[in-house]
Amino acid sequence: MFTVALTGGIGSGKTAVSDEFARLGVTVIDADLVARDVVAKGEPLLAGIVERFGESILLENGELDRKALRTRVFENSRDRDWLNSLLHPAIRKRMMDLAEAANGPYVLFAIPLLAESGNTRGFDRILVVDVPEAVQLQRTTARDSITREQAQAMLAAQASRQERLSIADDIVENTGSLEDLYRHIRQLHKNYTTLARNKTNLR
Ligand code: ATP
Repeated sequence: MFTVALTGGIGSGKTAVSDEFARLGVTVIDADLVARDVVAKGEPLLAGIVERFGESILLENGELDRKALRTRVFENSRDRDWLNSLLHPAIRKRMMDLAEAANGPYVLFAIPLLAESGNTRGFDRILVVDVPEAVQLQRTTARDSITREQAQAMLAAQASRQERLSIADDIVENTGSLEDLYRHIRQLHKNYTTLARNKTNLR
């Protein structure tokens, strides 16, 4: 299966981009949703987490207390490494399984923290949605009820614009209108469809 990974900073327009690919019939696999699914109630990984951190890591309804877990691993780097080595392969495997089961010439993986993960191999193309930081700040504060300072802190916690651009095969610049963005996505969709067909034919 031909795979495209989509990434971008906070408020850059990842959702606008992936929604347009979905409207074009592309299967979109969202890393954040998969990351929740692999530790859902009844999943073996959740049992592993409870074994390490105890029942107090669960909410009353038996679901993972994500906030408590975040606090625990923030405070302890060994716990953080342990958790990452448990979760990352499971998330990747689940995403690949979903991709294999998908219809259509290619799938789009939406991975907000791809540049941060350091794990950029295994995709046919990496598509970065890019805007200047000023636009990120403006769109994020317009959408969410957060201050400019909060948005700035979130930006600072992520990879820099240059770090993200350095992993890109394709860049979609999102400073124009949404219609401009969708036009660019339709062009990329054509290119990816052709590349995916060529890959299949080469097999
Ligand atoms: P996050 O990382 O915070 O989830 P995101 O990268 O998914 O954000 P979007 O939610 O797609 O970004 O876009 C951020 C905001 O900017 C949204 O309110 C969206 O409607 C708006 N937006 C995106 N692209 C454009 C555009 N080209 N013109 C105007 N507004 C836009």
